Amino acid sequence: MAKTGIVKDDRYLDHVADGYHPESPQRLEVLYQMLQEPGMRGNYVGITPRMATQQELELIHMPNYINLVATTAGRPMTMLDPDTYACAKSYETAKLAAGGTLVAVDKVMSGEVDNAFAFIRPPGHHAETNRAMGFCLFNNVAVAAGYALHTHKLKKALIIDWDLHHGNGTQHSFYERADVLYFSSHQYPYYPGTGFFSEVGGGAGKGFTVNVPLTAGPGDAEYLLIFEEILEPIALEFKPDIVLVSAGFDIYYRDPLGGMQVTPQGFANLARVILEFAQVTCKGRVVFVLEGGYHLEGLRDSAKEVLKTLRGETLARGRNEAVRDQADHRMIDPVIKKVKEAQKPYWKIK
Ligand SMILES: [Zn+2]
Repeated sequence: MAKTGIVKDDRYLDHVADGYHPESPQRLEVLYQMLQEPGMRGNYVGITPRMATQQELELIHMPNYINLVATTAGRPMTMLDPDTYACAKSYETAKLAAGGTLVAVDKVMSGEVDNAFAFIRPPGHHAETNRAMGFCLFNNVAVAAGYALHTHKLKKALIIDWDLHHGNGTQHSFYERADVLYFSSHQYPYYPGTGFFSEVGGGAGKGFTVNVPLTAGPGDAEYLLIFEEILEPIALEFKPDIVLVSAGFDIYYRDPLGGMQVTPQGFANLARVILEFAQVTCKGRVVFVLEGGYHLEGLRDSAKEVLKTLRGETLARGRNEAVRDQADHRMIDPVIKKVKEAQKPYWKIK
């Protein structure tokens, strides 16, 4: 079995909205309860988070923006954008979310664990260098990529974002850089509005942003096809030194915000593809980071299947070709073709 680390801390429950909000502490409560179930408890390595420092946040964020978020500390409620709240403890919680992701990177780099999953909040992928957006304060996965390159002196990082929503903040953080490849599959047109095929990066970063915009409908088979036809060949050619996953579970088939059809087993299949190419390029160094996912049971069951896959419990099952064979080609082939056309100048994809 692989050693899989888990970042978990009750302080992540301290970020709380005034009244109902889909991005609630209950999301982590159901996940933390799941970690105590028989077959889960004792099977994973606990990772204690720390707060990211100002310098670490500045790997991505503007000092003025970090200071703005800091001013929300101790105030009952600040709206940073129409969807994004900060309560009295949100600044500290957000620093702990980014920092938890950094400790997961440390543990994977030192070999203490083979891979890891950071069960943190608030999520991060919409956070821009200079503003909060879409429930996100600091961009956890982007800060982690910056940290892996800067502190661990890695040459290349791959960020895979399977969240329902496009990770505008992550894309913009590395848009003109060739050392961080950002891959996103997402519902489109949809919030936040970015992530079209033609957004492939700029300047030295051309070809290092890969967008797969999808109308509602794709499920396990179509996602597997996207990962095997586009992500896997590009990842094997890019050869990342570490892989970070913006793992949003809002593509689950019953998620209230989304129109995708992915099942818990479908998420495991995607994780399997990622682990397999990461084994080839970077000794399996993969850090999953929680983003969205608003159907509580779906979030719990899907994350559980991913964890079992990270640990290698489902290895004997191999890749599920039967699943891929069920793909609705009329739905997905035109999208795959357009992504390949956009990326052909940069990658050897057929
Ligand atoms: Zn999302």
